Amino acid sequence: MSFRAVFFDAGETLVHPEPSFPELFARITAREGHEVDPPAVVEASKVVLQRFSEAADDRELWTTSPERSRGFWMPVYERMLETLAVPDGERLAQILYSEFTDRANYGIFGDVEPALDALESGGTLLGVVSNFEAWLEDLLGELRVRDRFPVRVISGIEGIEKPDPRIYELALERAGVAAVDAAYVGDNPEFDVDPPSRLGMFAVLIDRRGRHEGFPGTRITDMRQLPEVLG
Ligand SMILES: [Mg+2]
Repeated sequence: MSFRAVFFDAGETLVHPEPSFPELFARITAREGHEVDPPAVVEASKVVLQRFSEAADDRELWTTSPERSRGFWMPVYERMLETLAVPDGERLAQILYSEFTDRANYGIFGDVEPALDALESGGTLLGVVSNFEAWLEDLLGELRVRDRFPVRVISGIEGIEKPDPRIYELALERAGVAAVDAAYVGDNPEFDVDPPSRLGMFAVLIDRRGRHEGFPGTRITDMRQLPEVLG
């Protein structure tokens, strides 16, 4: 193992809404009287990634307070509902926001802990660097993995969001590790591959749903492949 530290993105890399973002979305709208098709929700949810990019371009912090978080997500849910032709968007968006910020609705991917076991047994220091509201800290605790990540840099707590290089630098500083001795793993090329690579870290894209088949860099489709690609 040639890296002293490995840092992970959180959303869709370590943790996810259960059973998935589109399926939970469809269940909630169905419960509220509006049947939607999960594949249509997948299509409509493209607006989420778009908004992440726009927020980054505009340096609009969205995780650093409950007001900012709500101000970011409510219009996203309303736009998705509009695309899906579901009426009553404002009321439903409130419900979606409260369900998607309920920690009980989240789980950890099944391939994560075997990968962490393998890395830890090799003496690798593990960390989290995430654009997430401050409650990620409690979520990781409830999922019983928080202590596995001695270095945690959560944007909602630190006030810096990816792709700002300072968020990755803060993690390196806390780990006491140089960029070349660190790897970064995440599901979004824009936030999890390009910026850490520019700093000299080794970046790995986790693509469980096969959304980036032609990706030119290091790509895995199951977290259990991680120790080998870092080998
Ligand atoms: Mg992510």
